[in-house]
Amino acid sequence: MRYCVSCGSQMEDGTEFCPKCGVRNGESVKFDPVRSDSGDMNPAAIVLGILGILLGLFVPIIGLILGVIGIVLSSKGSVGHRNTGFVLSVLAILVSVVSWIFGAIILMSLYGY
Ligand SMILES: [Zn+2]
Repeated sequence: MRYCVSCGSQMEDGTEFCPKCGVRNGESVKFDPVRSDSGDMNPAAIVLGILGILLGLFVPIIGLILGVIGIVLSSKGSVGHRNTGFVLSVLAILVSVVSWIFGAIILMSLYGY
């Protein structure tokens, strides 16, 4: 499905002129409403990143999973652009891994391994 570059209404594939406003749309022109609306802010990825950081301190595996999901979501929003959601998700993974390692070290020292 293609969208008119002028008014944004849906156009049949293969049609050159918009049925609503009559503006000519080139074959290569594609309008993606989701991408243009999201900008560089991805609320879902930001929420997942923050949750991942907080949960990663206590339950590393959940923080890790949330961080990975956040990275996937943020990379879908704007390709090749490091946005807030991406940074927070990477932080969530780092916090989870660090607390996992520290947790393992503490457990090991407690049980004398
Ligand atoms: Zn139009």
